[in-house]
Amino acid sequence: MATRRATNIVWHDHKVTRAVRAAAKGQRPAILWFTGLSGAGKSTIANALESRLLRLGRHTYLLDGDNVRHGFNRDLGFSDADRVENIRRVGEVAKLFVDAGLIVMTAFISPFYADRDLVRNLVGEGEFIEVFVYAPLEVAEARDPKGLYQRARAGEISNFTGIDSPYEEPESPELILDTSKLTVEQSVDALVDYLVKVGLLSVG
Ligand code: ADP
Repeated sequence: MATRRATNIVWHDHKVTRAVRAAAKGQRPAILWFTGLSGAGKSTIANALESRLLRLGRHTYLLDGDNVRHGFNRDLGFSDADRVENIRRVGEVAKLFVDAGLIVMTAFISPFYADRDLVRNLVGEGEFIEVFVYAPLEVAEARDPKGLYQRARAGEISNFTGIDSPYEEPESPELILDTSKLTVEQSVDALVDYLVKVGLLSVG
C-alpha cells in the first residue's frame, strides 16, 4: 500500500472558496451526524428533516449507511477495522459536501466514539452536530425494520451492533432524540429548533 500512496501531490487553492459557495446558497453548511442503534430511527428522521429543510429552501444532502455501502464502500464489511474505515470515508465525503456549502445529514450506526470524534475534528467548530438517536435495544429490536435483529439472533449475521458488537453511546452529543418517546415530527421539530438556536437556520 505505502508504495502506491502519492507523495508528490500539492493542495490547490481555488478561487471559489467554501465561503463563496456557502454564500451563494445563502446558508451556513454543517454536518448533522445521526448515530444510534439499527432501527433507532436515524434514516427515518434524517429523511423527514431533509424534506423539512428543502421546504425551507435549504440545500441539503443525505448520506445513508446502506446506500453508501451499495457503492462507494461496497468493498467494506462489518469488522471493527472496516467499520472504522467506513466512517472515515463518510466523514471525508461529508467534509467535501460542507465545503460545497451543503447541510449534510448522515445516518450511520457509527458505534465507536473515536470514529465520530475523528469526523468532528475534520470540520470547523460548530459544524459537527452529533445527534444521538436513542431507542432502548428492546424497542429497536421490536421494530426490526429490516429483519436484521432476527437474523442476528439466529446467528446468521455476526458483528451486529447491540447484539454481538458494542455501541458506545455519545458522551456529549449536541442533541438526544429518544424515539421511544418522540414522534418523527417531534424529533424533526427538535432538530429545527436546535438549528435555529445555533444560527444555522432561520424560519419565517
Ligand atoms: P435506523 O436508520 O436507525 O436503522 P430506520 O429509520 O431505518 O432506523 O428505522 C426505524 C423504524 O422505526 C422505521 O420503520 C420507523 O418507521 C419506525 N419508527 C417507529 N416510531 C418511530 C419514531 N418515533 N421515530 C423514528 N422511527 C420510528
